[in-house]
Amino acid sequence: MKGGEHKRGDKRMKRIAVTGAGGFIGHHLVHRLKRQGCWVRGVDIKQPEFAASDADEFELLDLRVADHCLAATKDVDAVFALAADMGGMGYLSFHHARVLHNNALINLHTLEAARRNGVSRYLFGSSACVYPESRQTDAQVTPLRESDAYPAAPQDAYGWEKLFGERALEYFAAEYGTLGRIVRLHNIYGPLGTYAGGREKAPAAICRKVAMARDGDSIDIWGDGLQTRSFCYVDDCVEGLLRVMRGDHPGPLNLGSDRMVTVNTLAGLVIDISGKKNLSIKHIEGPQGVRGRNSDNTLLRETLGWEPSTPLEDGLVRTYRWIESMVGR
Ligand code: NAD
Repeated sequence: MKGGEHKRGDKRMKRIAVTGAGGFIGHHLVHRLKRQGCWVRGVDIKQPEFAASDADEFELLDLRVADHCLAATKDVDAVFALAADMGGMGYLSFHHARVLHNNALINLHTLEAARRNGVSRYLFGSSACVYPESRQTDAQVTPLRESDAYPAAPQDAYGWEKLFGERALEYFAAEYGTLGRIVRLHNIYGPLGTYAGGREKAPAAICRKVAMARDGDSIDIWGDGLQTRSFCYVDDCVEGLLRVMRGDHPGPLNLGSDRMVTVNTLAGLVIDISGKKNLSIKHIEGPQGVRGRNSDNTLLRETLGWEPSTPLEDGLVRTYRWIESMVGR
């Protein structure tokens, strides 16, 4: 038999390729798809760092190379395109050319290969970084609606490259009939995400700093800590990816939490979880990205009848405990 049983009888999605399966979200998504009875090919330039992949087949391929993308997307019904050269502000702010070059190649080659292989559904993992910087200059930012992306003026190369990826998918849909889905992810966090080495994002970095600090120490926070974001737990993200892929909304959809907090609040929550009562915050110079960002989930709710719901406190407990166990090794 070619594909596995799909629990919900969704015949369109039996054999699935997940690119970026060696990364944070891709790894969780593969796990979930396997639980649902799909046959899954994971593809990445590296193996998952922290736990073995559940994929039926895991291919080590550099998706900047067109032929590798053909191999990655052959004989599957659907592709979740999550591979990207990415990281937190400490990485993206210093590697504009590299990020643009690598991701433009990955996106275009993967999309064209999926088309040539006759893949019927394709989901592109875009980002909240597509939104214009001018709409995110205030910490008390108005939540961003999907239509706010234009006129386009993202802050950096990563955002431009994601916009390009979105447009490519839309043009392919119009010209070749590819069934494209686009999600704009807003700060996904959780266990098994990068927490050290320079590519980590704020929640993981803060959890690591707190876990490594002794009670009475201080932890460094970039900027004044009054910059705002919303944070979405990875299980909600995976649920959203599956719902969007199964759904029929052709345009971009935000996928994130709409509870906005300051970075100081985020750090305070992690410190509370750690139980280190005398840990303080020291503000230092560092890249901060936009001043404020939040997700407007109106269209997501209307389209899916669903939105992320894991409370930040609960997701942070799970994330902190995992990072604490890792740094304690
Ligand atoms: P991640 O860095 O953990 O995973 C991305 C994976 O892509 C990595 O495992 C990496 O090795 C792989 N990759 C990079 N270059 C490759 C290449 N040339 N060939 C094959 N694989 C390659 O990141 P993530 O957090 O899991 O993000 C997944 C997707 O979601 C990415 O497209 C990212 O841009 C997008 N996204 C994530 C967030 C977030 O908060 N995590 C926010 C917005 C968008």
